[in-house]
Amino acid sequence: STRLLLLCRPGFEKECLAEITEAAAERGAYGWSRLEADSGFVLFETDQADRLYSQLPQLVFAREAWPVTAELTDLPEKDRVSPILDALGGQPQGGQLFCDTSEGDAYRATARFAGKFVHPLRQAMRGADLLTPKDQPNQPAWHALFLDSSHVLLGLDKPEHRPRWPMGVARLKFPPQAPSRSTLKLEEAFHVFLGPDWRRTMENTHTGVDLGAAPGGWTWQLVNQGLAVQAIDNGPMDEDLMATGQVEHLRADGFTWAPDYPVDWLVCDMVEQPARVAERMLDWLTNGWTRSTIFNLKLPMKKRWQTWQGIREQIDRRLGDAGVRYHLAAKHLYFDREEITVYLTRTDA
Ligand code: SAM
Repeated sequence: STRLLLLCRPGFEKECLAEITEAAAERGAYGWSRLEADSGFVLFETDQADRLYSQLPQLVFAREAWPVTAELTDLPEKDRVSPILDALGGQPQGGQLFCDTSEGDAYRATARFAGKFVHPLRQAMRGADLLTPKDQPNQPAWHALFLDSSHVLLGLDKPEHRPRWPMGVARLKFPPQAPSRSTLKLEEAFHVFLGPDWRRTMENTHTGVDLGAAPGGWTWQLVNQGLAVQAIDNGPMDEDLMATGQVEHLRADGFTWAPDYPVDWLVCDMVEQPARVAERMLDWLTNGWTRSTIFNLKLPMKKRWQTWQGIREQIDRRLGDAGVRYHLAAKHLYFDREEITVYLTRTDA
């Protein structure tokens, strides 16, 4: 393949391209793309698309990626299936079919079309041995991404590069008891960073601190997993949440407050300069006040990629100097807007 398709939140195409360009260069591959603003995708042209895809690291701004096997334009309205089967003739069998479109506003009608078309296409691909008779999620899956109902990109993914939800669109219901919508951000972060068994992982943790906690959407997630939480914020916390008895509300500055004893989790959703937030997280980790952190970084509109690169260097430098071993992952989550969410945890004993 000569092209890698990457899906992102509409408006983040530049960041997505900057990131894949860097990831490619680090692996000796070069490419380019003609960006379409607000399209929600990047088509990265490179003669090394398959190798690059095999070696793909966890990307921050790409929600999903796969190499393009074929692109078909002018699909006839009467029979869109046959040209697709022809184009895929001789290709490997997939374990599933995803039929989708980009998230950009321009693709609303196409989304409805793709949602229906998946059924006849799946049937036909099974008939042509291009799909296993039953869904096999552990095998590579075929993707058909429609740009309009006559224009499709086809590609086969690898299960290890597949996002937690198709297209990275987090299917989470707002818990009615939660005090704020941002609760979904932390829930998505747990799924993405800790995996589908995240609740089991959380069972081994008992204490948490939430910096910038009010009204309590993130605290609610920790409380829901049985943690005792210290919630730091000058603003008011939700009364029902406080009534659980699991939360201690402290009106203090999240940048200077320090715990009396180490806690299992630190989460932080303070709206502040990203470098300042990161520095405080690094204080906590290097002082041994916690081992695991999830925090949000608001990125300035014009310099999102450069800002994140700076933060990454800040983390590497400071933890490197302190001799701390760590795992770092970051994601522009589905429920994130002008921000990314970071998971940083110590891996040394
Ligand atoms: N995560 C919360 C939730 O789910 O409900 C929402 C947090 S809101 C985006 C940011 C909060 O950070 C505000 O309540 C604000 O008062 C608090 N904040 C900002 N700067 C702070 C500081 N220096 N110390 C403590 N809290 C701060």
